[in-house]
Amino acid sequence: VNRLGKIILLVIVLAVIGFVALVRFGPPRMIATAPEPAPPPARPSAPVQVLPSGLAMPVAGVAPDKLYDSYGDARGGGERGHGALDIMAPTGTPVLAAAGGTIEKLFDSELGGRTVYIRSPDRRFVYYYAHLDAYAPDIAEGLYVEQGRQIATVGSTGDADPAGPHLHFEIKRMAPEQKWHEGEGINPYPLLAGNAARR
Ligand SMILES: [Zn+2]
Repeated sequence: VNRLGKIILLVIVLAVIGFVALVRFGPPRMIATAPEPAPPPARPSAPVQVLPSGLAMPVAGVAPDKLYDSYGDARGGGERGHGALDIMAPTGTPVLAAAGGTIEKLFDSELGGRTVYIRSPDRRFVYYYAHLDAYAPDIAEGLYVEQGRQIATVGSTGDADPAGPHLHFEIKRMAPEQKWHEGEGINPYPLLAGNAARR
């Protein structure tokens, strides 16, 4: 074997090693599966004030003793009861997640206007926020939001009186298999204004 033969052999060996490395690890950067950067954790914009019920006040800056119990009030000419608590606040006031959960639905409806449905991790509750002026820019269906995280702003979309912007807030008890628009309403008032515990 002459000198040229050794060089050719060396080149072949290096080529084989390079090929094996390419197959084994892939071309640099092209196939390399760097983990996707995790979305930044959803942080509450301000320290969360957790009430005795375990819920947070869903409208920023509203004191519990300023609430008026509007659950069960006659609406729509008395044909349907009001299955929610209305929390009055100026348009643009931050709407915060009363409890942590997954955004199950973002929905525009004739009555509710711009709405958010958030499902508790155990799937037993849905928190419904309606008449919203705008969604927070980074919320989406399927996103988990922490308690106290801003999800929207107060408004008067849907059938709300533009002169009286407010958050229409519902708590619905759910069977695990029930869908976002189902469930049985419970009165949020004692949970936000008093010392009642959510069961
Ligand atoms: Zn209402």
